[in-house]
Amino acid sequence: MQIGFIGLGIMGAPQAQNLLRAGFSLTVATRTPGKAEKFAQDNKELGKVQAVNTAAEVAAASDIVITMVTDSPDVVAVARGENGIFATAKPGTIIIDMSTISPKVTQELAAEAEAKGLQWLDAPVSGGQKGAIEGTLTIMIGGDSAALEKARPVLEAMGKRITHFGKAGNGQFAKLSNQVIVACNLLSACEGLVFAAKAGLDLNTVHSALTGGAANSWALDVLGKKMIDRDFAPAFMVKLQQKDLRLVLDAASNSHTALPGTSLVHQLLAAVEAEGRGDDGTQSLFRIIERLAGI
Ligand code: NAP
Repeated sequence: MQIGFIGLGIMGAPQAQNLLRAGFSLTVATRTPGKAEKFAQDNKELGKVQAVNTAAEVAAASDIVITMVTDSPDVVAVARGENGIFATAKPGTIIIDMSTISPKVTQELAAEAEAKGLQWLDAPVSGGQKGAIEGTLTIMIGGDSAALEKARPVLEAMGKRITHFGKAGNGQFAKLSNQVIVACNLLSACEGLVFAAKAGLDLNTVHSALTGGAANSWALDVLGKKMIDRDFAPAFMVKLQQKDLRLVLDAASNSHTALPGTSLVHQLLAAVEAEGRGDDGTQSLFRIIERLAGI
């Protein structure tokens, strides 16, 4: 199977590397001119990889096309745009969108793909940059089960827990549910650590003890450590978390679902953005909570 990969950022690049390691041949493209060529050059030892300039060129060369771009308008541009996937994909091509985007936009694109004889799977992921590098992502699928079975070996090269939630868009709903929990856990990790700091405790000792008990979460374990080390480099940028929380709050508003904790985290992350730190990792929320505590 020829695989196409569009979007070689924090997540996409290591995922594409894992596909090469698993023996798949890749055609890759991304937005910034030259980045795909650099990826192909840097990774030619891992397997057969060819760089092209547009999503249309990727699709023309592929049986399965994976997209890992930023937001709904990016997936729309990559799929439906003038030089997009729909322009050249052969009937039967499976498009796997692993970006986190709107469930409604996903349903529209999936219907459009089906009308063109293509198959669309939404397959957003959880597990962060670490999961992408280690090939241990949790993958949440919406779409046709026969297409999923054909694509499974490809997905298995990137992730460990692959769950089918039913129709198109349902993978995105599962991912947004994940983001609700991730956001609230982020805030609780910040608050717990700031509270311990104010009491004069050594934060490394607190982290080591609390990650062994009922308070543990991915946020406390991975992001809590970065907060203590004052490492605010992005593995998941604040502006992307904000994009996800907007998707959550829109969908929740449509279904009359009150999410007070998620709304609060969205507001607090706006304070991080207001300081010009939207490109920081989400652990940067720690600084705002410190300041509220007078640290
Ligand atoms: P990122 O580092 O900003 O990468 C985004 C990639 O998409 C870049 O390579 C960018 O190209 C490409 N891109 C964006 N718009 C495009 C367009 N219109 N046409 C072609 N390429 C386009 O972001 P990321 O962290 O990898 O996140 C990617 C997706 O995964 C997002 O939906 C995010 O919410 C989701 N996600 C991220 C994480 C995480 O921990 N980082 C975890 C789970 C899910 P250029 O490099 O050329 O600009």
